[in-house]
Amino acid sequence: MSKQRFNAPRGTKDILPDESAKWQYIENLFRKVAESFGYREIRTPTFEEAGLFTRSIGEDTDIVSKEMYTFQDKGGRTLALRPEGTASVVRAYIEHGLYINQPFAKFYYITPLFRYERPQAGRYREHHQLGVEAIGSKSPYLDAEVIYLAYRFLELLGIKEKELHLNSVGCPICRPKYIEKLREFLLPHKDELCEDCQRRLDYNPLRVLDCKRETCQKITSSVPPIYDFLCDDCADHFSKLQELLSSLGVNFRLNPRLVRGLDYYTKTAFEIVSTKLGAQNSVCGGGRYDGLVEELGGPPIPAVGMGMGVERVLLTLGEDFPEVKNEMDVFVAFEDEGQRDRAFQLLMQLREKGLKADMDYLERSLKSQLRQANRIGAKYALILRQDGAIVLRDMEKGTQKEVKLEEAIGELMKDGEA
Ligand SMILES: [Zn+2]
Ligand SMILES: [Zn+2]
Repeated sequence: MSKQRFNAPRGTKDILPDESAKWQYIENLFRKVAESFGYREIRTPTFEEAGLFTRSIGEDTDIVSKEMYTFQDKGGRTLALRPEGTASVVRAYIEHGLYINQPFAKFYYITPLFRYERPQAGRYREHHQLGVEAIGSKSPYLDAEVIYLAYRFLELLGIKEKELHLNSVGCPICRPKYIEKLREFLLPHKDELCEDCQRRLDYNPLRVLDCKRETCQKITSSVPPIYDFLCDDCADHFSKLQELLSSLGVNFRLNPRLVRGLDYYTKTAFEIVSTKLGAQNSVCGGGRYDGLVEELGGPPIPAVGMGMGVERVLLTLGEDFPEVKNEMDVFVAFEDEGQRDRAFQLLMQLREKGLKADMDYLERSLKSQLRQANRIGAKYALILRQDGAIVLRDMEKGTQKEVKLEEAIGELMKDGEA
């Protein structure tokens, strides 16, 4: 029988150790920032009942109709790999009755998402998202907090060239009037719109505004913006949010094309776009969804959130990455194989002290053990000599001295703390 080789499935990617250091850096920083803003981690299953997403994202969207990984399990249940982050968090919030004791809750998550898309730069069928959801308050201060959290995180990563695009999509009271107006405006131009937009005109005219085709954009460029039609509540919320963002020193641009098609999306919609790579690259998106908790069977509880693609962030950072070096505290080397047992014991002893330590497993000569120590970034080598003596070698300076074991450990520990 011939042997078979396997590759990672199309649209997925292995993250090898040299690269995973960057991922850890991003994830750790995100945890730190989110927790400093009072958010706590939530972890939900990788797959859910498919209906959860059909209901929350909408059957007419590309995500649900074309891109969702839906499958039947052996019990005949229709399940789907999570295509986005919010629905699962809201489902868990309702299922566990978290609103009963504590109606206001703030969550963050780091999770893979799955979409059957055409693979291209920065887009994968399995990609990863960092996100937050704040459930239980309609205060514009919370919208400002969520946006500022994303902004601050990108700032700390060193992504300076970015733009915040901001819009309000109104609420079930004021939006229908705007949609009416929009349809009235677009109908005479129906034949000039792309096929998708002609359909959207019937079931979701708001979505015509975010069509990327030039011909459609030309037609919609003279459409009156939605914020001229907001009800008092939405208008107050929107202007307070803008005031808060300004007070935090966050520059923003009003972008009336920033719409989200579903009824439960309300008020704030935003996107953070990086201008670093020349072309505009959206790295973060979010907004308010005051109707979703109720849509998914919970009480009418307002919420706001955001999500950020890790791959997009990495693509934007490119080479400008804070240096993440692989480092070892110490490499235990020995003159000949007779010392291996002793070296192995010492190695474990050093690890128990919390030092990052390693040794040779390939029966290398002392010379090539030291070469290996260099390769893995060991700061020191402890060399066990045939005569029982121990030598501490500073790998960077190339200096070495004979030491007592306790003395060597003390020195390594001191250096480990620095
Ligand atoms: Zn309104
Ligand atoms: Zn179009």
